[in-house]
Amino acid sequence: MQSVTVLGSTGSIGISTLDVLSRHPDRYSVYALTANTSADELFAQVMAFSPRYAVLREAGLAAEFAERLRVAGSNTEVLSGEAGLCEVAAAADITMAAIVGAAGLLPTLAAVEAGKKVLLANKESLVMAGQLFIDAVAKSGATLLPIDSEHNAIFQCLPLAAEGGIKAQGVQRILLTGSGGPFRATPLDELATVTPDQACAHPNWAMGRKISVDSATMMNKGLELIEACWLFQTDPATIEIIIHPQSVIHSMVEYVDGSVLAQLGNPDMRTPIAHALAWPQRIHSGVSSLDIISQARLDFEAPDEERFPCLRLARDAAIRGGTAPAVLNAANEIAVAAFLDGELAFVDIAQVIADVMAQTNIGEPQSLLDVQTADSAARALAVDLISAKIRA
Ligand code: NAD
Ligand code: MG
Repeated sequence: MQSVTVLGSTGSIGISTLDVLSRHPDRYSVYALTANTSADELFAQVMAFSPRYAVLREAGLAAEFAERLRVAGSNTEVLSGEAGLCEVAAAADITMAAIVGAAGLLPTLAAVEAGKKVLLANKESLVMAGQLFIDAVAKSGATLLPIDSEHNAIFQCLPLAAEGGIKAQGVQRILLTGSGGPFRATPLDELATVTPDQACAHPNWAMGRKISVDSATMMNKGLELIEACWLFQTDPATIEIIIHPQSVIHSMVEYVDGSVLAQLGNPDMRTPIAHALAWPQRIHSGVSSLDIISQARLDFEAPDEERFPCLRLARDAAIRGGTAPAVLNAANEIAVAAFLDGELAFVDIAQVIADVMAQTNIGEPQSLLDVQTADSAARALAVDLISAKIRA
């Protein structure tokens, strides 16, 4: 029996994780569930799974929540704040890191530093902290398993022994696939007026709103490029981004002998979640069997960088290294939030990120504090640039 903390349990990945866990009560017990402000959703989850702890980020909400649980006869203890998140992240056998954005950095690192099995959905934390994150994994001996469907697919297509790096194992190229999102074929001149709801209507995946917008700009694929460089210890030149609108192939690995291995399946995050939970074993996920006959065809195309300027921005940040990915990520989080709030046009997301990147000095972070400083400065600059756009 292994205990599991689900950070961000009320989100899209969190809900899928609880769905998989509920199919295997003999293997896993829920240790802690956490949310930002969604107290009603968290309450229902606590009543269903009876975790030892529940965490709400804000102390006032948490106190109210504890009282509500007491009245309902629950024994779950309530914690709050970053400290509460870090405490439960470090204490279970397995931690699912599924908080969205930079807010997930410290809790995810707490699980890593405690040497736990860490299921990484929160790609932003690895993008931001890169080398420091990977060093922390090496130091603690944590087991880091990718939940992002592409990285989980790549992981499944790589040889088990990673000695000497993937090049030494005969890997020549990683083909990172992405659907191209809802605007893959939208006329370019219509992109200026697309709405948040249109951007969040992903053709294949149901996800949280931030990652849905990232998919529409393809910044998600850019962040995934950086994520893949760290996870698989390779350089951006080894990774090719390919548009595959059906999302049936979740990525591919090419070897020097010309073999290309792919992982296929229905686009349902319960597959990578179940894979990582049980790894190296296999368990049922609840995902239906792939009907390859009715699927009938798989299409591929090269991404268009005029349509998706975020791809170039992210590749540049990956090549520059240092604090560049943290700056890129911070500017993106602010720009996406402004777009979702109706304050910024869709096409200006990339412009704001490009301007922040151009106006920021990139350094080599020596500590987490350096990463957080770069993150804060990039956020402040992005806010200023957006305010100036609103006034103009
Ligand atoms: P979501 O918005 O649906 O859920 C986010 C969760 O994080 C919620 O439980 C929310 O309460 C919590 N949260 C948000 N802000 C917080 C804060 N400041 N402090 C503490 N908790 C906070 O997001 P999602 O789609 O589930 O994505 C979660 C992560 O997984 C993201 O990093 C995303 O990139 C990654 N991911 C998601 C998918 C997917 O299919 N949804 C696929 C691949 C990777
Ligand atoms: Mg992905």
